[in-house]
Amino acid sequence: MPSFQTSPGTRDILPPHAGRWRALTDVFADTVQSAGYECIIPPMFEDLGVFLRLGEATDVVTKEMYDFVDKGDRHIALRPEQTAGVCRAFAQHRPVTPWKVWYSGPNFRYEKPQAGRYRQFDQVGVEVLGSDDALLDAEVISLAWQFFARLGLAKVELVVNSLGDAPERGAYIDALRAHFESRRGELSEESAATLARNPLRVLDSKRPADAAAVASAPRISSFLSAESASHFAAVLAGLDALGVPYRVNEMLVRGLDYYRRTTFEFVSLSLDGAQNAVGGGGRYDGLVEDLGGPATGGVGFAIGVDRTLLACDAEGVFGTGAVGIDAFVVDVTDGMAALRLTEDLRAAGYTADRAFDGRSMKSQMKAADRSGASFAVIVGADEAAAATCTVRDLSSSEQVTVPQSGLVAHLAATLGTRTPRRNPR
Ligand code: AMP
Repeated sequence: MPSFQTSPGTRDILPPHAGRWRALTDVFADTVQSAGYECIIPPMFEDLGVFLRLGEATDVVTKEMYDFVDKGDRHIALRPEQTAGVCRAFAQHRPVTPWKVWYSGPNFRYEKPQAGRYRQFDQVGVEVLGSDDALLDAEVISLAWQFFARLGLAKVELVVNSLGDAPERGAYIDALRAHFESRRGELSEESAATLARNPLRVLDSKRPADAAAVASAPRISSFLSAESASHFAAVLAGLDALGVPYRVNEMLVRGLDYYRRTTFEFVSLSLDGAQNAVGGGGRYDGLVEDLGGPATGGVGFAIGVDRTLLACDAEGVFGTGAVGIDAFVVDVTDGMAALRLTEDLRAAGYTADRAFDGRSMKSQMKAADRSGASFAVIVGADEAAAATCTVRDLSSSEQVTVPQSGLVAHLAATLGTRTPRRNPR
């Protein structure tokens, strides 16, 4: 029989890590829903044309797209990110503005797999469509900031920049092209190749050969119109008012072409250099129009779940994702007491597990220990005859025998009451 392994760049997210993944999404949802953002679930694949709007100079589009012709002869692509799909949805459904949405889910990019860089990776993010207000940019950025803080991350740095509106950005790109062309001889081979496609990305180069040419490159700030400069100043004033610390870095250009004005990135100082961006975003006025909708301002961000959890590991924060079991029922009679008691405990809001297959007392007690449960609830022949159970505290080994009908009340006295999941039988 053949045996199969995951494809390069994909992983099984196994328990307990997958639980931590879910918990992260819950914290994210709670953070952004507190600000009125509602969940959107766009499809995982779209017409290729939707993603081509991300820009011809974008690696995500030119080199990394998972695209194919389907059985109906449609040219389809798996989404490399979710902003384009959300903008397509906006253009299609024309909701009331401002439209504030959040999402979570996988994206696909044919990248060279390495630690923190995968071909299928998850993001959580928000998008707001239908407003140009700079204070909205500040709100969006601060939500991401709060989210990192709620996870317990302390070593995340916010870097911000403004790339100006389309004409300013265009003039800046021309100036950059001229600058780098005049120093082409000095550039690394990779940057010389990037220059032809996207001079902005040369600014991103961390290669030593490029350092001098990058350092002497023109700065975007001298290309900003008065309007763009005041928009950027208002974003920074908003962040100051909220006490969100930031660093302005004029070299921050980001990988996607559609950004206008505000761009930002969150960098984990506890992750390795090349893959240390845990999230990023910006304003993308014009994208909805490119997708056939009305002229609409937009701003948002996406946070990489994989890398954020790597940053949590590096900082030793945000738990393990393991499901805590309150009680493990050990039944060495016919198993029916365990069937009923676990059901009662779950209905009362506790987490309860048990063994199957008529295992021995020793084996079931081992399973109880392995489960990490706070209590073992033991039903032997004597307890079954008297309709009682012995509740053993697995950390202190103290135990007490109580009526089965009083088990929930007994646990409530130690663990506190929980929100019932359903009415007990
Ligand atoms: P982007 O959509 O390129 O702006 O990326 C936003 C965030 O998604 C990045 O800061 C990363 O945390 C994460 N990310 C992007 N590409 C990958 C990838 N191939 N593997 C893992 N995470 C990624």
